[in-house]
Amino acid sequence: MTYIDTQLFIDGSWQEASDARTLPVENPATGETIGHVAHAGTAELERAVAAAEAGFRVWSEMPPVKRAGIIHTAAALMRERVGTIAPTMTMEQGKPLREAEAETLAAADILDWFAEEACRVYGRIVPSRVDLAIRQMVVRDPVGPVAAFTPWNFPINQIVRKIGPALASGCSVVLKAPEETPASPAALVRTFEDAGLPAGVLNLVFGNPAEISSYLIAHPSIRKITFTGSTAVGKQLAAMAGQHMKRSSMELGGHAPVIVCEDADLDLAVKSAGMAKFRNAGQVCISPTRFLVHDSLYDRFAADVTSLAEGLAVGDGLDGANQMGALANPRRVSAMRDLTADAVSHGAEVLTGGEQIGNRGNFWQPTVLADVPTDARVYNEEPFGPVIAMRRFSALDDAIAEANRLEYGLAGYAFTGSLRNADALSRRVQVGMLWVNMPAMPSAEMPFGGINDSGYGSEGGPEALDCYLNLRTVTVKNS
Ligand code: NAD
Repeated sequence: MTYIDTQLFIDGSWQEASDARTLPVENPATGETIGHVAHAGTAELERAVAAAEAGFRVWSEMPPVKRAGIIHTAAALMRERVGTIAPTMTMEQGKPLREAEAETLAAADILDWFAEEACRVYGRIVPSRVDLAIRQMVVRDPVGPVAAFTPWNFPINQIVRKIGPALASGCSVVLKAPEETPASPAALVRTFEDAGLPAGVLNLVFGNPAEISSYLIAHPSIRKITFTGSTAVGKQLAAMAGQHMKRSSMELGGHAPVIVCEDADLDLAVKSAGMAKFRNAGQVCISPTRFLVHDSLYDRFAADVTSLAEGLAVGDGLDGANQMGALANPRRVSAMRDLTADAVSHGAEVLTGGEQIGNRGNFWQPTVLADVPTDARVYNEEPFGPVIAMRRFSALDDAIAEANRLEYGLAGYAFTGSLRNADALSRRVQVGMLWVNMPAMPSAEMPFGGINDSGYGSEGGPEALDCYLNLRTVTVKNS
């Protein structure tokens, strides 16, 4: 399978940067350069914004049912092309082929759902308290051209969670997709081109992330910013958006607690939280991370999750037998090494893993750390890697207090056989998304997003469209 170089997509045409600048793309499983991506400069960004402005006029005037038809067609093309899109994603991102296929097919489902929502953007009429001849109308209009910034961990999924609701709402988009994984986003954009999306409605750029975000956020034509990535960068972009009074949504980092209560189904907890931890090699914002296990189950949980980690086949994601692939970039391997060493220096025990695998590609052993003190870095910073960090608790109140200790508030997990515990956990664990007795099951129709330092604005459910709509009122006196 050949890996195709990625160009910019501006005003309906694929193009190189005017100065022909490119960036290399590496395969994380081999460390080899497999292709290049065009690097936009100011001239390209200017053209992309102008195209999005013109595209917005066309798209926002198109009846929603027609917009929905184009989005549905793009979704169908995603399904048809999964056989080429998924290996492309694996080659540039490292995840196992079956995860890349699942991501591509899930993206098609997400697009289909948002296509249908396009037809359900309704206003309302509110009777006047003074005179029924006064018609009070509440209308919802697309905000305008959107600047969207997405990361490398889910090269396609992170995009459809933004362009799905943006396009359904009638907005146009300048998308800055990840330079490390550019070809699968380009394949997604191509499905929209082939589905008949008018020129300028969706534009794709790559380059220097800080330069592009500074340019786009400040640009008067851009009306809305949406970013997925680290909390540190999200805070910078949100501050910039505030300076320019731009609306923004931020889907930022997490540090998900996993509370395994005394009355939990141990096998269920080990299988669902353990397997979820190693999905995408832990590079998932909702990845289970702080494992808080009741004293009475701790030793058995530690033994079982260790054998689960040791049983995983790790290697090149293109080999269908492998269950965990390479980390997406060498930065993550260094981060794993530093976090493990720091945890050990604070007194944690390495039950398994804790080492790089081989010297080719970015492979890290599935790792289980036990008795991790809360002041170890891995209990405070988002690890974004295949590391289970365990602690024991005896009182549920203490586990809930630990779950709520960090400023992050994205996902949380709990395992319990009792309704009383499930109720206490659902009321008191401060996260945007809590899953009880199951692994995460995000879907297009459910809100997706965090609270506190994990950001704001939903990327799922009807609420996702609210992020791309202005609310206005028009009141008409008819007599
Ligand atoms: P990073 O914080 O530099 O980059 C994260 C993402 O933000 C990348 O896609 C990058 O291109 C983008 N970015 C960075 N600076 C930007 C700027 N000034 N303007 C616009 N976009 C910008 O770090 P990284 O090494 O790529 O990832 C490290 C951390 O980021 C991870 O440990 C994790 O905490 C977080 N992250 C979170 C998600 C998520 O799904 N929420 C995804 C990827 C990374």
